[in-house]
Amino acid sequence: MRSYTYDAEKLKCWIEREKIKKFAVQLPAGLLPRAREILEELGGYGEPLLYAEPAFGACDFPDLDAIPEIDGLVQLGHAEIPGVTKNRKILFLELYSTAEPKPPDKIPGNMGDRICLLTTVQYLKQLQKIADFLKEAGRRVHIPGPMNRTLYPGQVLGCDVSSAAACSTIVDSYLFVGDGRFHPAGIAMLTSRPVYRYLPSGRIEPLEFEREKFLRAGVSKASAIRDARTVAIVVCTKPGQKRLKLARELAGILKSHGKNPCFLTINNLSPEFLNYTGNDLLISTACPRVALEDYGNYEVPLLTPQEALLGLGEIKNYEMDQFLPGHI
Ligand code: SF4
Repeated sequence: MRSYTYDAEKLKCWIEREKIKKFAVQLPAGLLPRAREILEELGGYGEPLLYAEPAFGACDFPDLDAIPEIDGLVQLGHAEIPGVTKNRKILFLELYSTAEPKPPDKIPGNMGDRICLLTTVQYLKQLQKIADFLKEAGRRVHIPGPMNRTLYPGQVLGCDVSSAAACSTIVDSYLFVGDGRFHPAGIAMLTSRPVYRYLPSGRIEPLEFEREKFLRAGVSKASAIRDARTVAIVVCTKPGQKRLKLARELAGILKSHGKNPCFLTINNLSPEFLNYTGNDLLISTACPRVALEDYGNYEVPLLTPQEALLGLGEIKNYEMDQFLPGHI
């Protein structure tokens, strides 16, 4: 784990407090090739074994009873999502990048004076230093406090960018620290302010995201529900993606519109199975990003709950699906 650090004291305290000897280790997909090296390192704390299904987030962890002879599970990489589990035998051990932040090469003029700084847990330790760089360059920096599914100031998740949305009237642009498109695209879906990425090299670049096109596609997708004769509501079995209350509420609304929905439950949403369930249309209550971004891979329309409500005329404007309180 050379390019990352973690809080070894937190791991040690958990091992002692919960009397852990054998434990399963779950990794993000990107770290699976380094599993042997990681297990060897964690072997200094007990007897680790690899739980080989990767974690796509802290929403996604296994049932401990299904793994024989372990006392607990360490999920590496993500910060715990408040309220998703109270199981003390599961430890969410955050990984922090050790990359040294570099001053930005150039701050694009159209970022404006007021910049909202956001990141994922991996780059949290760099955030203050990058804020200082921006302040030295004469910009005002806003790091929003945590909300709903996040624990730390500046942290965003693919399913919860509510802290970014909450400050949209007091900032001119958003600057996401980190690589990849997944998280900044989530910010861009929810706000009309420009979104930029701060790459580890110190380069700031605009995120290419056509929000109008995204909204038009969502509205067009929503209309498919009007003609759908058979509709299924998909409920994910991952602990932090299971929105049963929302699924039940949706079923009630669908019935009031003359639809007769059935429920489907699945762990990993995949067209391989969901294309062949005999339904004209699916509504996903799982990770919002599946129906928002992967719907093109499905042969049947795959809607978010909000798209279904829009298509039925229950809401007037397009709303992006997020995991907000009261749905789990
Ligand atoms: S629900 Fe989706 S976006 Fe949210 S933490 Fe899980 S995988 Fe990430």
